[in-house]
Amino acid sequence: MKHFIPLSVPNLRGNELNYLTDAINKEWVSTGGTYIARFETELAHYLKVYSAVACQSGTAGLHLALILAGVEKDHEVIVPTLTFIASANPVKYCHASPIFMDCDNSLCMDMAKLKMFCQRECNFLDNKLINKTTGKQIKAVVVVHVFGNMADMPAVMDIAKKYNLIVIEDATEALGTYYLEGPYQGKYAGTIGDIGVYSFNGNKIITTGGGGMIVSSSREILKRAKYLSTQAKDDAVNFFHNEVGYNYRLTNLQAALGVAQLEQLEHFISVKKENYERYKRNINGKINGIEILDFREDIRPNYWFYSLYIMNLDKYTRRKIIDKLAEGNIQTRPVWGLIHEQKPYLLDQAYKIEKAPEYHRRIVNLPCSSNLSASSVYKVINTIKSIS
Ligand SMILES: *Cc1c(COP(=O)(O)O)cnc(C)c1O
Repeated sequence: MKHFIPLSVPNLRGNELNYLTDAINKEWVSTGGTYIARFETELAHYLKVYSAVACQSGTAGLHLALILAGVEKDHEVIVPTLTFIASANPVKYCHASPIFMDCDNSLCMDMAKLKMFCQRECNFLDNKLINKTTGKQIKAVVVVHVFGNMADMPAVMDIAKKYNLIVIEDATEALGTYYLEGPYQGKYAGTIGDIGVYSFNGNKIITTGGGGMIVSSSREILKRAKYLSTQAKDDAVNFFHNEVGYNYRLTNLQAALGVAQLEQLEHFISVKKENYERYKRNINGKINGIEILDFREDIRPNYWFYSLYIMNLDKYTRRKIIDKLAEGNIQTRPVWGLIHEQKPYLLDQAYKIEKAPEYHRRIVNLPCSSNLSASSVYKVINTIKSIS
Protein backbone atom coordinates (compact mmCIF):
# COMPACT_ATOMS: atom_id res chain seq x y z
CA MET A 1 0.00 0.00 0.00
CA LYS A 2 1.39 3.35 -1.04
CA HIS A 3 1.94 5.90 1.72
CA PHE A 4 -1.01 8.31 1.74
CA ILE A 5 -0.19 12.02 1.55
CA PRO A 6 -3.20 14.05 2.72
CA LEU A 7 -3.96 17.61 1.65
CA SER A 8 -4.11 19.24 5.07
CA VAL A 9 -4.43 17.43 8.40
CA PRO A 10 -4.12 18.40 12.06
CA ASN A 11 -0.78 18.20 13.86
CA LEU A 12 -1.37 17.44 17.55
CA ARG A 13 2.07 16.61 18.92
CA GLY A 14 2.49 19.42 21.44
CA ASN A 15 0.71 19.94 24.76
CA GLU A 16 -2.75 19.05 23.40
CA LEU A 17 -3.18 15.85 25.40
CA ASN A 18 -1.75 17.41 28.60
CA TYR A 19 -4.11 20.37 28.56
CA LEU A 20 -7.08 18.28 27.50
CA THR A 21 -6.40 15.80 30.30
CA ASP A 22 -6.12 18.68 32.75
CA ALA A 23 -9.49 20.08 31.63
CA ILE A 24 -11.09 16.66 31.99
CA ASN A 25 -9.47 16.02 35.38
CA LYS A 26 -10.88 19.33 36.57
CA GLU A 27 -14.24 18.39 35.03
CA TRP A 28 -14.56 21.69 33.16
CA VAL A 29 -15.59 20.56 29.72
CA SER A 30 -18.30 22.95 28.58
CA THR A 31 -18.54 26.71 27.97
CA GLY A 32 -16.93 27.65 31.31
CA GLY A 33 -13.37 26.95 32.42
CA THR A 34 -9.98 28.60 32.47
CA TYR A 35 -8.75 27.47 29.05
CA ILE A 36 -11.33 29.63 27.26
CA ALA A 37 -10.10 32.88 28.82
CA ARG A 38 -6.50 31.71 28.44
CA PHE A 39 -6.95 30.96 24.74
CA GLU A 40 -8.61 34.35 24.20
CA THR A 41 -5.87 36.21 26.07
CA GLU A 42 -3.02 34.36 24.39
CA LEU A 43 -4.44 34.76 20.90
CA ALA A 44 -5.10 38.47 21.54
CA HIS A 45 -1.51 38.81 22.72
CA TYR A 46 -0.20 37.05 19.61
CA LEU A 47 -2.30 39.30 17.37
CA LYS A 48 -1.33 42.42 19.33
CA VAL A 49 -4.97 43.33 20.06
CA TYR A 50 -6.37 44.00 23.51
CA SER A 51 -8.82 41.10 23.59
CA ALA A 52 -10.70 38.45 21.61
CA VAL A 53 -13.90 36.42 21.95
CA ALA A 54 -13.87 32.66 21.33
CA CYS A 55 -16.79 31.09 19.50
CA GLN A 56 -17.98 27.77 18.19
CA SER A 57 -16.73 28.05 14.60
CA GLY A 58 -15.56 30.51 12.00
CA THR A 59 -19.04 30.39 10.51
CA ALA A 60 -20.63 31.30 13.86
CA GLY A 61 -18.06 34.10 14.20
CA LEU A 62 -18.95 35.49 10.78
CA HIS A 63 -22.65 35.30 11.63
CA LEU A 64 -22.05 37.26 14.83
CA ALA A 65 -19.83 39.73 12.96
CA LEU A 66 -22.65 40.51 10.52
CA ILE A 67 -25.16 40.95 13.34
CA LEU A 68 -22.70 43.25 15.12
CA ALA A 69 -22.24 45.19 11.89
CA GLY A 70 -25.99 45.84 11.97
CA VAL A 71 -26.79 43.69 8.93
CA GLU A 72 -30.52 43.02 8.81
CA LYS A 73 -33.25 41.97 6.46
CA ASP A 74 -33.11 43.77 3.11
CA HIS A 75 -29.53 44.91 3.57
CA GLU A 76 -26.83 43.86 1.14
CA VAL A 77 -23.27 42.73 1.84
CA ILE A 78 -20.44 42.57 -0.67
CA VAL A 79 -18.59 39.23 -0.61
CA PRO A 80 -16.08 37.55 -2.94
CA THR A 81 -17.19 34.70 -5.19
CA LEU A 82 -13.85 32.86 -4.94
CA THR A 83 -13.97 31.62 -1.35
CA PHE A 84 -15.43 28.88 0.81
CA ILE A 85 -19.23 29.14 0.96
CA ALA A 86 -19.17 29.88 4.71
CA SER A 87 -18.01 33.42 3.85
CA ALA A 88 -21.41 34.04 2.22
CA ASN A 89 -23.93 31.82 4.06
CA PRO A 90 -24.08 34.00 7.21
CA VAL A 91 -25.34 36.89 5.01
CA LYS A 92 -28.39 34.73 4.29
CA TYR A 93 -28.74 33.82 8.00
CA CYS A 94 -29.33 37.57 8.50
CA HIS A 95 -31.98 37.58 5.72
CA ALA A 96 -29.73 39.93 3.77
CA SER A 97 -28.35 39.44 0.23
CA PRO A 98 -24.79 39.11 -0.98
CA ILE A 99 -23.35 40.94 -3.98
CA PHE A 100 -20.53 38.90 -5.46
CA MET A 101 -17.18 40.46 -6.37
CA ASP A 102 -14.39 39.13 -8.55
CA CYS A 103 -10.86 38.31 -7.38
CA ASP A 104 -7.58 39.85 -8.50
CA ASN A 105 -4.24 38.08 -8.96
CA SER A 106 -3.87 37.66 -5.20
CA LEU A 107 -7.05 35.47 -5.33
CA CYS A 108 -8.57 37.95 -2.86
CA MET A 109 -11.26 40.53 -3.67
CA ASP A 110 -10.51 42.84 -6.59
CA MET A 111 -10.53 46.25 -4.92
CA ALA A 112 -10.44 48.16 -8.22
CA LYS A 113 -13.72 46.49 -9.15
CA LEU A 114 -15.13 47.07 -5.67
CA LYS A 115 -14.40 50.76 -6.06
CA MET A 116 -15.87 50.85 -9.55
CA PHE A 117 -19.00 49.12 -8.31
CA CYS A 118 -19.48 51.64 -5.49
CA GLN A 119 -18.86 54.56 -7.86
CA ARG A 120 -20.88 53.48 -10.86
CA GLU A 121 -23.53 51.09 -9.63
CA CYS A 122 -24.51 52.82 -6.39
CA ASN A 123 -25.71 56.16 -5.05
CA PHE A 124 -24.28 57.56 -1.85
CA LEU A 125 -27.13 59.35 -0.05
CA ASP A 126 -27.42 60.38 3.60
CA ASN A 127 -24.24 58.48 4.39
CA LYS A 128 -25.76 55.28 2.97
CA LEU A 129 -24.52 53.33 -0.01
CA ILE A 130 -27.57 52.40 -2.08
CA ASN A 131 -27.39 49.79 -4.83
CA LYS A 132 -29.00 51.35 -7.95
CA THR A 133 -30.09 47.92 -9.24
CA THR A 134 -32.03 46.86 -6.14
CA GLY A 135 -32.57 50.12 -4.24
CA LYS A 136 -31.20 48.40 -1.13
CA GLN A 137 -28.57 49.62 1.30
CA ILE A 138 -25.15 48.00 1.24
CA LYS A 139 -24.07 47.73 4.82
CA ALA A 140 -20.79 45.83 4.87
CA VAL A 141 -18.05 44.14 2.91
CA VAL A 142 -16.57 40.74 3.81
CA VAL A 143 -12.95 40.46 2.67
CA VAL A 144 -11.39 37.01 2.67
CA HIS A 145 -7.65 36.45 3.05
CA VAL A 146 -7.63 33.53 0.66
CA PHE A 147 -5.23 30.64 1.40
CA GLY A 148 -3.29 32.76 3.91
CA ASN A 149 -2.60 35.59 1.50
CA MET A 150 -3.66 39.14 2.45
CA ALA A 151 -6.44 41.08 0.73
CA ASP A 152 -5.51 44.66 -0.21
CA MET A 153 -6.47 46.20 3.13
CA PRO A 154 -5.35 49.83 2.51
CA ALA A 155 -7.60 49.87 -0.58
CA VAL A 156 -10.66 48.36 1.09
CA MET A 157 -10.31 50.55 4.18
CA ASP A 158 -10.25 53.65 1.95
CA ILE A 159 -13.34 52.55 0.03
CA ALA A 160 -15.18 51.60 3.21
CA LYS A 161 -14.43 54.96 4.78
CA LYS A 162 -15.64 56.83 1.73
CA TYR A 163 -18.91 54.87 1.48
CA ASN A 164 -19.63 54.13 5.14
CA LEU A 165 -19.22 50.36 4.90
CA ILE A 166 -18.29 48.09 7.79
CA VAL A 167 -15.29 45.90 6.98
CA ILE A 168 -15.45 42.30 8.18
CA GLU A 169 -12.27 40.31 7.66
CA ASP A 170 -12.76 36.61 7.07
CA ALA A 171 -9.29 35.71 8.36
CA THR A 172 -10.25 32.06 8.87
CA GLU A 173 -7.39 30.94 6.61
CA ALA A 174 -4.89 33.62 7.51
CA LEU A 175 -4.02 33.40 11.21
CA GLY A 176 -0.42 34.61 11.43
CA THR A 177 -0.31 36.58 8.19
CA TYR A 178 0.84 40.19 8.68
CA TYR A 179 2.01 43.26 6.76
CA LEU A 180 5.76 43.83 6.51
CA GLU A 181 5.41 47.38 5.20
CA GLY A 182 2.94 50.07 4.23
CA PRO A 183 0.33 51.85 6.38
CA TYR A 184 -0.52 48.62 8.23
CA GLN A 185 3.05 47.45 8.81
CA GLY A 186 3.10 44.90 11.64
CA LYS A 187 -0.69 44.46 11.58
CA TYR A 188 -2.11 40.95 11.38
CA ALA A 189 -4.79 39.82 8.92
CA GLY A 190 -8.06 40.09 10.81
CA THR A 191 -7.03 43.05 12.98
CA ILE A 192 -7.32 45.86 10.43
CA GLY A 193 -11.03 46.05 9.58
CA ASP A 194 -13.89 46.66 12.01
CA ILE A 195 -14.31 42.98 12.91
CA GLY A 196 -12.07 39.98 12.18
CA VAL A 197 -12.88 36.28 12.39
CA TYR A 198 -10.58 33.24 12.68
CA SER A 199 -11.38 29.53 12.38
CA PHE A 200 -9.91 26.50 14.13
CA ASN A 201 -11.60 23.87 12.01
CA GLY A 202 -9.62 20.67 11.42
CA ASN A 203 -8.00 21.81 8.17
CA LYS A 204 -6.94 25.27 9.35
CA ILE A 205 -3.39 26.23 10.39
CA ILE A 206 -4.22 25.55 14.04
CA THR A 207 -7.23 23.53 15.11
CA THR A 208 -9.49 22.96 18.10
CA GLY A 209 -11.51 20.35 16.20
CA GLY A 210 -14.01 23.09 15.56
CA GLY A 211 -13.87 26.66 16.79
CA GLY A 212 -13.46 30.31 16.01
CA MET A 213 -12.39 33.68 17.38
CA ILE A 214 -13.67 37.21 16.92
CA VAL A 215 -11.51 40.31 17.23
CA SER A 216 -12.47 43.95 16.84
CA SER A 217 -11.06 47.43 17.24
CA SER A 218 -14.21 48.27 19.23
CA ARG A 219 -14.56 47.15 22.85
CA GLU A 220 -18.31 47.64 22.56
CA ILE A 221 -18.52 45.22 19.62
CA LEU A 222 -16.47 42.58 21.45
CA LYS A 223 -18.62 42.90 24.54
CA ARG A 224 -21.70 42.32 22.41
CA ALA A 225 -20.03 39.38 20.65
CA LYS A 226 -19.59 37.65 23.98
CA TYR A 227 -23.11 38.57 25.09
CA LEU A 228 -24.79 37.29 21.93
CA SER A 229 -22.67 34.12 21.82
CA THR A 230 -23.72 33.16 25.35
CA GLN A 231 -27.52 33.29 24.90
CA ALA A 232 -27.79 37.06 25.56
CA LYS A 233 -28.00 36.50 29.28
CA ASP A 234 -28.62 39.80 31.10
CA ASP A 235 -29.07 38.26 34.52
CA ALA A 236 -27.36 34.91 35.02
CA VAL A 237 -29.20 34.13 38.24
CA ASN A 238 -32.73 34.99 37.24
CA PHE A 239 -32.35 34.24 33.53
CA PHE A 240 -33.36 37.59 32.10
CA HIS A 241 -32.69 37.99 28.37
CA ASN A 242 -33.24 41.27 26.54
CA GLU A 243 -32.27 39.99 23.08
CA VAL A 244 -32.31 36.80 21.06
CA GLY A 245 -28.92 35.22 21.68
CA TYR A 246 -27.04 32.22 20.34
CA ASN A 247 -25.26 29.20 21.75
CA TYR A 248 -22.07 30.07 19.91
CA ARG A 249 -19.46 29.84 22.68
CA LEU A 250 -16.32 27.68 22.41
CA THR A 251 -15.97 24.88 24.99
CA ASN A 252 -13.15 24.51 27.50
CA LEU A 253 -12.09 21.22 25.85
CA GLN A 254 -11.70 22.94 22.50
CA ALA A 255 -9.93 25.89 24.11
CA ALA A 256 -7.47 23.50 25.80
CA LEU A 257 -6.52 22.26 22.33
CA GLY A 258 -6.36 25.85 21.11
CA VAL A 259 -3.87 26.92 23.79
CA ALA A 260 -1.60 23.99 22.88
CA GLN A 261 -1.92 24.63 19.15
CA LEU A 262 -1.17 28.33 19.48
CA GLU A 263 2.13 27.48 21.19
CA GLN A 264 3.14 25.78 17.93
CA LEU A 265 1.74 28.26 15.41
CA GLU A 266 5.03 29.92 14.49
CA HIS A 267 6.67 26.52 14.14
CA PHE A 268 3.84 25.35 11.83
CA ILE A 269 4.31 28.47 9.73
CA SER A 270 8.05 27.87 9.43
CA VAL A 271 7.49 24.27 8.26
CA LYS A 272 4.85 25.42 5.78
CA LYS A 273 7.23 28.10 4.48
CA GLU A 274 10.03 25.57 3.94
CA ASN A 275 7.74 23.21 2.06
CA TYR A 276 6.27 26.06 0.03
CA GLU A 277 9.76 27.09 -1.04
CA ARG A 278 10.66 23.47 -1.79
CA TYR A 279 7.68 23.17 -4.14
CA LYS A 280 8.43 26.52 -5.73
CA ARG A 281 12.16 25.85 -6.29
CA ASN A 282 11.43 22.58 -8.02
CA ILE A 283 8.40 23.58 -10.07
CA ASN A 284 8.66 27.23 -11.13
CA GLY A 285 10.87 27.46 -14.22
CA LYS A 286 11.61 23.70 -13.97
CA ILE A 287 8.33 22.19 -15.18
CA ASN A 288 6.87 23.90 -18.23
CA GLY A 289 3.22 24.91 -18.12
CA ILE A 290 2.68 25.08 -14.36
CA GLU A 291 3.83 27.21 -11.46
CA ILE A 292 3.28 27.72 -7.74
CA LEU A 293 1.48 31.03 -7.13
CA ASP A 294 3.19 33.72 -5.07
CA PHE A 295 1.80 35.34 -1.97
CA ARG A 296 1.66 39.14 -1.84
CA GLU A 297 5.16 40.60 -1.54
CA ASP A 298 4.57 43.11 1.25
CA ILE A 299 3.45 40.51 3.79
CA ARG A 300 4.65 37.60 5.89
CA PRO A 301 2.02 35.01 4.86
CA ASN A 302 1.13 32.03 7.04
CA TYR A 303 1.63 29.79 3.96
CA TRP A 304 -1.60 27.94 4.74
CA PHE A 305 -2.44 26.55 1.28
CA TYR A 306 -0.21 26.17 -1.78
CA SER A 307 -1.73 26.86 -5.17
CA LEU A 308 -0.46 25.07 -8.25
CA TYR A 309 -1.46 27.22 -11.21
CA ILE A 310 -1.87 25.71 -14.69
CA MET A 311 -0.54 28.11 -17.32
CA ASN A 312 -0.70 25.72 -20.25
CA LEU A 313 -4.15 24.12 -20.41
CA ASP A 314 -3.18 22.15 -23.55
CA LYS A 315 -0.52 20.31 -21.59
CA TYR A 316 -2.25 20.05 -18.20
CA THR A 317 -5.82 20.06 -17.00
CA ARG A 318 -6.97 20.25 -13.43
CA ARG A 319 -8.58 16.81 -13.77
CA LYS A 320 -5.41 15.23 -15.14
CA ILE A 321 -3.24 16.55 -12.31
CA ILE A 322 -5.71 15.59 -9.59
CA ASP A 323 -6.26 12.09 -11.03
CA LYS A 324 -2.58 11.38 -11.53
CA LEU A 325 -1.73 12.45 -7.97
CA ALA A 326 -4.68 10.42 -6.61
CA GLU A 327 -3.23 7.34 -8.34
CA GLY A 328 -0.07 7.97 -6.34
CA ASN A 329 -2.16 8.17 -3.15
CA ILE A 330 -1.68 11.93 -2.95
CA GLN A 331 -4.68 14.05 -2.01
CA THR A 332 -5.21 17.38 -3.75
CA ARG A 333 -8.18 19.63 -4.29
CA PRO A 334 -9.51 21.93 -6.96
CA VAL A 335 -10.26 25.46 -5.79
CA TRP A 336 -13.86 25.91 -4.49
CA GLY A 337 -16.82 26.12 -6.83
CA LEU A 338 -17.57 29.82 -7.30
CA ILE A 339 -20.33 30.90 -4.92
CA HIS A 340 -22.32 32.99 -7.40
CA GLU A 341 -22.81 29.78 -9.40
CA GLN A 342 -24.14 27.75 -6.45
CA LYS A 343 -27.85 26.99 -6.33
CA PRO A 344 -28.81 29.12 -3.29
CA TYR A 345 -27.07 32.15 -4.83
CA LEU A 346 -28.13 32.08 -8.47
CA LEU A 347 -30.54 34.99 -8.05
CA ASP A 348 -28.05 37.25 -6.28
CA GLN A 349 -26.11 39.97 -8.02
CA ALA A 350 -22.60 39.25 -9.32
CA TYR A 351 -20.45 42.10 -10.62
CA LYS A 352 -18.10 41.60 -13.58
CA ILE A 353 -16.84 38.17 -12.52
CA GLU A 354 -14.01 37.50 -14.98
CA LYS A 355 -10.84 36.37 -13.22
CA ALA A 356 -12.39 33.99 -10.69
CA PRO A 357 -13.57 31.44 -13.33
CA GLU A 358 -10.05 31.41 -14.82
CA TYR A 359 -8.44 30.74 -11.45
CA HIS A 360 -11.12 28.18 -10.72
CA ARG A 361 -10.18 26.32 -13.88
CA ARG A 362 -6.45 26.53 -13.31
CA ILE A 363 -5.72 25.99 -9.59
CA VAL A 364 -5.02 22.76 -7.76
CA ASN A 365 -4.13 22.89 -4.05
CA LEU A 366 -1.19 20.65 -3.14
CA PRO A 367 -0.51 18.84 0.16
CA CYS A 368 0.52 21.40 2.78
CA SER A 369 0.11 19.90 6.27
CA SER A 370 2.44 21.25 8.94
CA ASN A 371 3.81 17.74 9.44
CA LEU A 372 4.49 17.13 5.74
CA SER A 373 8.02 15.77 5.26
CA ALA A 374 10.47 16.94 2.62
CA SER A 375 10.43 13.46 1.06
CA SER A 376 6.65 13.66 0.68
CA VAL A 377 7.02 17.01 -1.07
CA TYR A 378 9.54 15.47 -3.49
CA LYS A 379 7.16 12.58 -4.09
CA VAL A 380 4.41 15.02 -5.04
CA ILE A 381 6.77 16.90 -7.35
CA ASN A 382 8.04 13.73 -9.02
CA THR A 383 4.49 12.50 -9.56
CA ILE A 384 3.62 15.80 -11.24
CA LYS A 385 6.75 15.45 -13.41
CA SER A 386 5.58 12.04 -14.57
CA ILE A 387 2.44 13.53 -16.14
CA SER A 388 2.82 13.72 -19.88
C1 LIG B 1 -12.93 27.52 7.08
C2 LIG B 1 -13.53 28.73 6.50
C3 LIG B 1 -14.69 29.31 7.04
C4 LIG B 1 -15.51 28.68 8.12
O1 LIG B 1 -14.88 28.33 9.26
P1 LIG B 1 -15.48 27.11 10.15
O2 LIG B 1 -14.72 27.21 11.41
O3 LIG B 1 -15.23 25.86 9.40
O4 LIG B 1 -16.94 27.39 10.36
C5 LIG B 1 -15.14 30.50 6.51
N1 LIG B 1 -14.51 31.08 5.47
C6 LIG B 1 -13.41 30.54 4.90
C7 LIG B 1 -12.76 31.26 3.78
C8 LIG B 1 -12.90 29.33 5.39
O5 LIG B 1 -11.82 28.79 4.80
